[in-house]
Amino acid sequence: VKRFRFSSLWMAFAAITFFVLIATACLVVTVAFTMYQLGFWDTAHGNPNSPIAILLLLSTVIGGVLFLFVGKIFLRPIEQLNEAAKQVATGNFEAKITTHSRIMEINNMSASFNRMVQELASIETLRSDFIANVSHELKTPLAAIEGFATLLQDQTLSDADRDEYVHMIIGSARQLSALTENILNLSKLENQEIVIDKATFRLDEQIREAILLLENKWSEKNLDLAIELETVSYYGGESLLRQIWLNLLDNAIKFTQKNGKIEIDLRVHNKKAAVTIKDSGRGINPAEMKHIFDKFYQADTARKASGYGLGLALVKRIADLCEVTVSVQSPPGEGSTFIVELPILNPPM
Ligand code: ADP
Repeated sequence: VKRFRFSSLWMAFAAITFFVLIATACLVVTVAFTMYQLGFWDTAHGNPNSPIAILLLLSTVIGGVLFLFVGKIFLRPIEQLNEAAKQVATGNFEAKITTHSRIMEINNMSASFNRMVQELASIETLRSDFIANVSHELKTPLAAIEGFATLLQDQTLSDADRDEYVHMIIGSARQLSALTENILNLSKLENQEIVIDKATFRLDEQIREAILLLENKWSEKNLDLAIELETVSYYGGESLLRQIWLNLLDNAIKFTQKNGKIEIDLRVHNKKAAVTIKDSGRGINPAEMKHIFDKFYQADTARKASGYGLGLALVKRIADLCEVTVSVQSPPGEGSTFIVELPILNPPM
């Protein structure tokens, strides 16, 4: 059963109309009475219709004038909304509705409008920041390629120099292609709404493979790896989840100093698989913590050369897509711990 609810906007409108009607009636009576007293209005003679006509005319004029003023005050927030919406439409996200109304709905509407504009503004900043970041990241390797290619034009170069410059050009070109691949991958995932390649696979095996794939990186730093993986058969987006392990492990290796330690755990508890990757690296401070999952965010500017700050944005997007959760802990001085929790679901029959 649909219940009828009195809205306060509706009540306010009724109250104002009532007030205007009463005020009109009082004014009309006062004017008519004064006219009668002053002798302008002689009902004994003349046309008996005229008093009614005059009363009607009077009430129309007085009511109309009253409504004009009251209506203006009552509808001011709507006018303001109209003005603000026009400004937003032209790209000004500073527009705001500031007046407070006694009517709840009008206040709610103003608050929602202001919130909407704020959201739009932040999306706009994200978009323009993204473009600025991409252009910046593209410029650096491009400038290197141009520089070394110019140097190569020198006919008198020694073979060693020539080799070195060619090497630098290849390095920068690889950097460019890795960057564009990452951006494309992320944008593809951002436009993807469902996981297509769901399959049943061994989660522990997948993590072991990821660790092996990064062997030259961790062995080069002489990192101590403590691996404890329960046997888990998991149904989900196989290739997407692989990217999570690769990114988290790559970061753990990258941000841990030589001879450090990385602990990798996989445990099942309450129909949930939990993967913990704990490093003994430099850790993440609370201010950085807020941004690490943002695109292009890199806390340590000194390390800008490695990575583009897209890894964790990718991890977060994949986690959302695959309906798994990623959380981070980093108590001061104890490195960082990334925990991925995956609810174990039964594959469809
Ligand atoms: P990238 O690794 O390319 O810089 P990410 O998106 O993977 O970008 O990470 C973003 C930032 O989060 C890193 O620049 C770093 O500051 C921080 N971070 C990520 N993982 C770790 C970690 N294991 N230890 C310390 N800091 C980390």
